[in-house]
Formats: sequence, C-alpha cells, structure tokens
Amino acid sequence: MTDLSDNKLGIKCQWMEIKRALINHEGQVFPCCYFANIEYTISILGDDPNVWDIEHYGIWRKGDYVAKKNYKTSLHEYMETKEDHNVFNHTLGEILNNEWFTKTLPESWNDEDKCHRLCKKFCSVKSNHRVGLKNE
Ligand code: SF4
Repeated sequence: MTDLSDNKLGIKCQWMEIKRALINHEGQVFPCCYFANIEYTISILGDDPNVWDIEHYGIWRKGDYVAKKNYKTSLHEYMETKEDHNVFNHTLGEILNNEWFTKTLPESWNDEDKCHRLCKKFCSVKSNHRVGLKNE
C-alpha cells in the first residue's frame, strides 16, 4: 500500500504513517495507542454492557454484539487471534507481517462495518479529530 489513505473510507493510519506500533506490558502488539487503550480498559473493567456502551465502543463481545450485528470489526478479529499478536509467542517481525496487520486491518478501511470506529474517529482524512491533517 503506497498511499495510506487509498481506501474507500479515507482512513490514513497515523501510526503506520510514522512506522510505529505499540507493545503493552503483557507483550501484546497493537497498531496504535487507541486500540491498546480500549483493550486495556476492558481487561480492567470487564465488558459488562451496563458499564460500557458496546455499540459505541465496538467491543468484542462474542455473544450479543457480534451475533446481533452479524459482522466483526477489525478489533473483534484482533481479539479472536490475540495470541498471534503477542511477542511472547512470535517475533515482532512475524507479528507486523501477519494476516491481521497486513490484511485484516487495512482491508477493514474499505468496509463501513468492519472498520473500527476508532479508525474513523481518529484517522479519517475527513475527521476534525485527525491530528496532523487539520492544516493540510
Ligand atoms: S485508529 Fe486505526 S487507522 Fe488510526 S492509528 Fe489506530 S489502527 Fe491506525
């Protein structure tokens, strides 16, 4: 992918752009702090729908959310293959070249349902939230 925003939803991944990824204290590799923060918060608070607005955060509840919606966001897919993205199981190079990082995530930016709301919120070239593009 030469032009990072060459996708249907106009997502320009901030972290890919600067060639960075995040490894958390458990060795889990994330594409950015946005994804890492949500996973960490849920690991502490749990995924009780009374605590979280599941619809809003697009969390990975396998039961009602995924079944009801009949699709999985890139984060759902990440959580289902979580062990594949951990440096205690694979080298960093293997992880960054695995299917989720090279296909699932970038291809989600072509699909309104699969694209996680964080990508739309923070990295859409049309979003006011997108850092760095406001003056471009
Ligand atoms: S929110 Fe999505 S597009 Fe933005 S940096 Fe993270 S993975 Fe990349």
